[in-house]
Amino acid sequence: MQINVLKFGGTSMADHKTWKQVLEIISNYEYPVVVVSATAQTTRKLVEAGNLAAKGKLDEALEISKSIQKRHNQIVTDFLEENPHAKNKLIKDSCTKNTEAKIGKLNKLLTYTERQGVLSPQMKDAISAMGEQISSYLLAQCGLALDIMTQHIEARKLIKTDSEYGKANPNRLLINQHCGSLETVLESGFTPIIGGFYGESKDKTVTTLGFEGSDYSASLIGAAIGAQTIEIWTDVSGVFTGDPRFIPEAKPLAEMSYFDATEMAYFGAKVLHPSTLKPAQERNIPVFVKNMFKPEDKGTKIVRHSKHDLDVLALSFKQNMATLTVSAYETVMGYSFLTKVFAVLEEHRLAVDAVNTTEASVTIALSDSEILDQLSKEFIEIGTVTLERQKGLLTLIGCSINKADKLTSTIFSSLEKVELNMISFTKEKRILNVVMDDEKLIETTQKVHNQLF
Ligand code: ADP
Ligand code: ASP
Ligand code: MG
Repeated sequence: MQINVLKFGGTSMADHKTWKQVLEIISNYEYPVVVVSATAQTTRKLVEAGNLAAKGKLDEALEISKSIQKRHNQIVTDFLEENPHAKNKLIKDSCTKNTEAKIGKLNKLLTYTERQGVLSPQMKDAISAMGEQISSYLLAQCGLALDIMTQHIEARKLIKTDSEYGKANPNRLLINQHCGSLETVLESGFTPIIGGFYGESKDKTVTTLGFEGSDYSASLIGAAIGAQTIEIWTDVSGVFTGDPRFIPEAKPLAEMSYFDATEMAYFGAKVLHPSTLKPAQERNIPVFVKNMFKPEDKGTKIVRHSKHDLDVLALSFKQNMATLTVSAYETVMGYSFLTKVFAVLEEHRLAVDAVNTTEASVTIALSDSEILDQLSKEFIEIGTVTLERQKGLLTLIGCSINKADKLTSTIFSSLEKVELNMISFTKEKRILNVVMDDEKLIETTQKVHNQLF
């Protein structure tokens, strides 16, 4: 059985018209397993409702919940109106009931949050996963109106994780075991529709895989069932040489390696969740990024080995960064200095994007967050701390060191008037990182892109 895992993101799930397109794409496959996001903006609204409840503004939070219910009921009504079917009355009733039950549960979570006066990570996950829980059920019901044998499968039955709320780690062994049931569903002629982004921990509480986590759900499921392909259907025709929202000249890449795609996602390209490629890579499953509005476009194929002889394959950028410099009290740092610095970062679960060291200090570029304010205290026994905020990180992916002349002349000429805070490069990973002021980041990224491509 050759299974294809298809994932559709928030923009693909925006309204009844895109739902129809999603279902039409699905119907072209023999054995598709479908993973969907929440409808566009819903996750963001759910988190907003949670925060409002925690601040005591329960009325406003419930207002958001009501608007989510209304929007989903409307999508189903419009869909069924445009796609008449004898079963539509039954479908509509089951959709309305299901959404009502989910919204009832959401309202309970919001009320509890108001009473607690704080949105705990556990509660935030339970609230924000509600978008995928609603959308996946409704899309599966709407498939029936098109005579597609869609069947909703609850993601909690498949995606088992630890309890690190907000960024839960999947339990691959359990996921592999539970995903076996999907084959039975497919063999009986049904198409499973699963909500992405969330799962459940050992104690049966809802967990999420982090923002944009539906991509990750799709690849976890794809790897578990040994899919032929994992296809990320989105609103652009593949992975581009730079973010097409900011760089209109950017072009889609026909092919790239798991490694380069992971680095791109990690360094800010929103098109993929950074962990997506790992499960696929382990089982050598090609990942495609395709445009659901232009299905005829080839998109990008991501595979183990993809060679190119370009100076640079692509670039990405990250805003809202900070640099943290820790200077040792002694003039030359001992070998335990870096271990101590990184131990503090580990304790606070702070991921490092780029590092540079001198004889007695280390500078680290990382995403800005409130926690950074508290760090000077933690470093008190190690050294003095300087924190600089409002920084941006530009990353060039797949740089060829053999073309160092070309690289330096094209890139550094574009960077001429920009004050640089840090540069790091390794031949092994072919990644060039440049940290600068955030306000210069977009303009500089565009300039560098246009010089290179
Ligand atoms: P979905 O809702 O389908 O998950 P996302 O908004 O998460 O879609 O991801 C797709 C968006 O990622 C594109 O619309 C594009 O603006 C953005 N993006 C950022 N960098 C890149 C890139 N290098 N290539 C393609 N898209 C990118
Ligand atoms: N809905 C979630 C988010 O907005 C997950 C996803 O769309 O991938 O982050
Ligand atoms: Mg996404």
